[in-house]
Amino acid sequence: MADPLDSDLIAIDPNQVMQLTGSCLCEGVKYKIDGPVRNVVNCFCEQCRKTSGHHVAATKVNKDHLAFENDETLDWYECLPSVYRGFCKTCGSSLFWENKNAADNGIAIMAGALDAPTNLKTIGNIFTEDASDYCKVPSIE
Ligand SMILES: [Zn+2]
Ligand SMILES: [Zn+2]
Repeated sequence: MADPLDSDLIAIDPNQVMQLTGSCLCEGVKYKIDGPVRNVVNCFCEQCRKTSGHHVAATKVNKDHLAFENDETLDWYECLPSVYRGFCKTCGSSLFWENKNAADNGIAIMAGALDAPTNLKTIGNIFTEDASDYCKVPSIE
C-alpha cells in the first residue's frame, strides 16, 4: 500500500525557507519550524479522512527543522507499518504524519495547526478517489 502523503508532488521546497509556529488546540503541543517548507497538499485518503474528520491539508519539513516548545500531550498512532500519526491526547488535534523510513527525513505537518498567517499556498490534491461522497474536492489554481 502506498504511503498516503508520500507522493512526488511533494518534495520540500529548498528555496522556501520560513519561520512558523504551530500548536494543538489546548497548546499541550507547541512547535516551531525554521527551514525549508513545502507548500500545502490536500490528502483525501481514507486514513486522512477518518483521522481528520474530513481531509488532511499538510505541509512538510525536514525533522531537523522542527523543534518542540511543548510536547507533553503529544502521542503517536502507528497507522501503517513504520508510519505514524501524531496527535494531542488531550484535545484530539491531528498534528503530524511521519514515515520513519522516508529518505528525506521529512515530517508532514497539518497546516491548520500552524499559526496564521502562514504565507503557504495549496498546491495539490492526492488520493481524491478516496474522498467521501459528500465531499467536494477543491480545485487548485
Ligand atoms: Zn492539545
Ligand atoms: Zn492521506
